[in-house]
Amino acid sequence: MNEIELETVLTQVTAALRSLRPDAVCALRLVDPDAGGYRLAGTEGFPAAGRILVVPFGEGLTHVVAETRRPLLVENNQRDPRAIPGHWSAVPELTTYYGVPIDAAGEILGVINMNFPPSTPPTADEQASIGMVATQAAVAIRNARLLAERDERCRAAEALADVSGALAQSLDADVIAQRVADMVRHLLRASGSLIFRSRPDAEELVTVAVSGELAPDFGRGVVFPGGSGLAGVAVRTRQVVATPDFLTDARVVLPPDLRRSLEPAADRAVLAAPLIVQDRVIGALSIRDQTGRVFRDRERALARAFADQAALAFHNAQVLKESSTRQAQLEALLEVTRELSAIQSVESLLGMIAETCGRLLDSGSVGFRLLADGELVVTGKWGDAGTIMNTRRLKIGESLSGIVALTGEPLSVTDIANDPRVIPAHREALRRAGYKRWLGMPVKIGGRLVGVLSIRTRRDQDFSEGDLAIAAAFASHAAISIENARLYEAITGKNARLQEQATELEAKNAELDSFAYSVSHDLKAPLVTIEGLAGVLLEDYGSQLDERGAHYLQRLQANARQMERLIGDLLALSRIGREARSPEEVNLADLVDGLQAELAGLIQARGVKINIREVVDLWGIRTQIEQVFSNLLSNAIKYAGENASPSVEIGAIDRGDLIECYVRDNGIGIDPAYHSKIFEIFQRLKEVEAEGTGVGLAIVKRIVEAAGGRIWVESAKGQGAAFYFTWPKSGAKERAGGPGE
Ligand code: ADP
Repeated sequence: MNEIELETVLTQVTAALRSLRPDAVCALRLVDPDAGGYRLAGTEGFPAAGRILVVPFGEGLTHVVAETRRPLLVENNQRDPRAIPGHWSAVPELTTYYGVPIDAAGEILGVINMNFPPSTPPTADEQASIGMVATQAAVAIRNARLLAERDERCRAAEALADVSGALAQSLDADVIAQRVADMVRHLLRASGSLIFRSRPDAEELVTVAVSGELAPDFGRGVVFPGGSGLAGVAVRTRQVVATPDFLTDARVVLPPDLRRSLEPAADRAVLAAPLIVQDRVIGALSIRDQTGRVFRDRERALARAFADQAALAFHNAQVLKESSTRQAQLEALLEVTRELSAIQSVESLLGMIAETCGRLLDSGSVGFRLLADGELVVTGKWGDAGTIMNTRRLKIGESLSGIVALTGEPLSVTDIANDPRVIPAHREALRRAGYKRWLGMPVKIGGRLVGVLSIRTRRDQDFSEGDLAIAAAFASHAAISIENARLYEAITGKNARLQEQATELEAKNAELDSFAYSVSHDLKAPLVTIEGLAGVLLEDYGSQLDERGAHYLQRLQANARQMERLIGDLLALSRIGREARSPEEVNLADLVDGLQAELAGLIQARGVKINIREVVDLWGIRTQIEQVFSNLLSNAIKYAGENASPSVEIGAIDRGDLIECYVRDNGIGIDPAYHSKIFEIFQRLKEVEAEGTGVGLAIVKRIVEAAGGRIWVESAKGQGAAFYFTWPKSGAKERAGGPGE
C-alpha cells in the first residue's frame, strides 16, 4: 500500500457517503500538522470554487468536531458563529451540517463533513451509518498511512543509497545533479524538480538539472535573478521551505514577467531546499507539484537529504578540479624550485614561492617573514606585499603574523582591515588596498617555527579548507627550500674553505720547494769553490803545514763534501714533484745490477752479499726508481753493523694491482720507537758512525707516495731491517698514458 492506495481509500469513503445520501455533499478533511490545519483530502459533489484547501487548526465547525471528538449536527451553519463565514456559500441551499470525527483508537485523524438540505437532515440511522463509515475510514486511513510511511521510507533509503553510490562512482557533478533531480521527483511523486547553482559573484541562480515536464522557462541553463522564486527564499533563509502556491505566498519574489508567465501553470506548489557546503549556500533544489499540495515534514527532510547529496557532488567536483589543476601547477613549481634552490638566495626563492602561492589562491599579496634574532623579518614577498608588510620587523605576538608565530597555528581572519590585532600601519595599508581576508601559515622545520607565510585576498568568501591545504603545502615547501638553501650554503661554505686551505698549502709547498731548490743551487757554487780551494791548498801548500793544519784542511774538505751531498739530496727531494721525465718500463734486475756496480766499493769493503729474489718490471720514472733502491740498498750496507756475513735481499712481488718491493738486511736493525721518525727529513739515529744526511728516507718516502704507493719498515734493534714499499701497477701506467695491459 502507498499514497495512491490511501487516495483510493478516501475515494471509497466519500463515494460511500454520497451513495448514502445522494442529495448531500461531503468533504473529508485530514489532520495535517505540516499544513497547520485540516487538509481537504476528498470531496463528493462539492464544487471546486470556494473550497478551502486547509482549514487552520482552531477554526470552523471541523475543529469543533475534532476537538470534542463527537459528531455535531448544526441545523443552519450560516447562523452558527463557529462556522467559517462564507465557507459554504458555494452550496447555499445545503445549510444543515453534520460532522463526524475520524477517530482511530483515540487519535483523531480527520473529520467527515456533510451538508444536507435543511428540509432533510440526516436521520438517526443515517447518522449511525456515517459513524460506521468514519470508523472504517479511521482504520483504513491509519493502515494506509502506516504502510505508505514504511514504503516511502524504504524507497527513500534506497534512493539515497543510489545517489550516494553514484556520488562515489562518478565525479561528474552534472550527472549526479540530474540523478538527484530525477530521484527526488520520483520519490515525492512531484510533477517536476530542478537544481540550481548560485553564481559566485552575480547573485543569480542557474538551472543545472531539470526533471519532469516544466515550462520552457525552467530549462537547463536558464538564469533566474538572485532571490527570486521559492528557491530564492531557501537560499536566503538557508532553510527548507514549502508553499502550496508560490503565486500567493508573500515570501516569494518574482520578476513581473516571470510571474505573468507562471500564472497559468497548474503546478505551483513548491518545496525548496538550499544546497549548503561548508556553511556556504551554493544553490538550491526545487520540487514542484500540483497547486495546493502541502509538503509534509518527512518530505522536507527528504528534500534536505537530497540537497545535501547534490551539494556534496558539486563540492567534490570542484575540489577535484581545483586540486588537479593545482597539483599540476604545484608540481611544475616544485620542479623549477628544486633546480633553482641550489643557486637562489633564500629571499628570491621565497619570493617565487609567494608568487605561485598568490596566483593559485587568487591573492595579490603574499609574503614571508622569517625568524631572525627573535623577530619576524620580511624575507620574500610578492604582489603588493612590500607596501602592505611595511613594518620590516615584527615581534613575536605582534600583529597577525606575530600571533601565528606565537601559537604555531594557522590563522584565518575575515575582516582584516578592521581587526584590532593588526598594527595600525598595516591596517591602514590593508584598508587602502581593499583587502578583506587574511590567512597566516606557520613555516616549520622539524616542528621548529622558522617563519610565517601570510596571504591576503580581496574576496568576500573565506578561505576554504582546500585553500588552507594549499597554503600549508606552500609553507612546508618554503620550509624545505629554506633548509635546502641553508644546507647548501653550509656545504658550499665548508667546501670553499677546504679548497682555499688546500690551495694555500699547495702554494706554500711549491714555494718551499723552489726555495730549497734555489738555496741548494746557490749554496752549491761557493761550496764547490771551498772544496776545490781546500784541495789546491792541501796539494800545493801541504808541505808547509804541520800535521794539525793538514788535518783541519782535510776536515774542511770532508765537511764541504758532506754539505755537497746534503745539497744534492735536498735538490733531489725538491725535484720529485716536478720531474719532467716521462715514466717507462723499468727492469728491476738490470737496475739492481747497475746499483751494485755503482756501490761496488762499499759492498766489497763490507763484504756484503746481495741476493736478488723474485723480480718484476716497474712502471715509472727511471731516475726515481733508481733513487729509491739506491737509498735503501746503501742504507742496508751502511747499517750492516758487526755482522760477520752481512747480506741484503732485494725483491718485488706481484700483488694484483700493485707491486710490493722490499730491501731486507741482517744489520743493526731499528728500534720500533723510531720507525716513523726515520722517514722524516734530517732524522738520523746516532747508533753507528755512517756517512749520511738524514734526507735519504725522506726522498724515498716522497717518491713512493707521489707514485701512489706506501712505505713502511719492519725491524727491531739488532734484528736487521726490512723496508717495504708498494708501487702501483696499472694506475701508474694509466696516469702516465702508457701502454695498456
Ligand atoms: P742517512 O743519510 O742517515 O742514512 P736516511 O734518511 O737514509 O738518512 O736514514 C735515516 C736513519 O734511519 C739513518 O740515520 C739510520 O739511523 C736509520 N736507518 C736507515 N736505514 C737503516 C737500515 N737498513 N738499518 C738500520 N738503520 C737504518
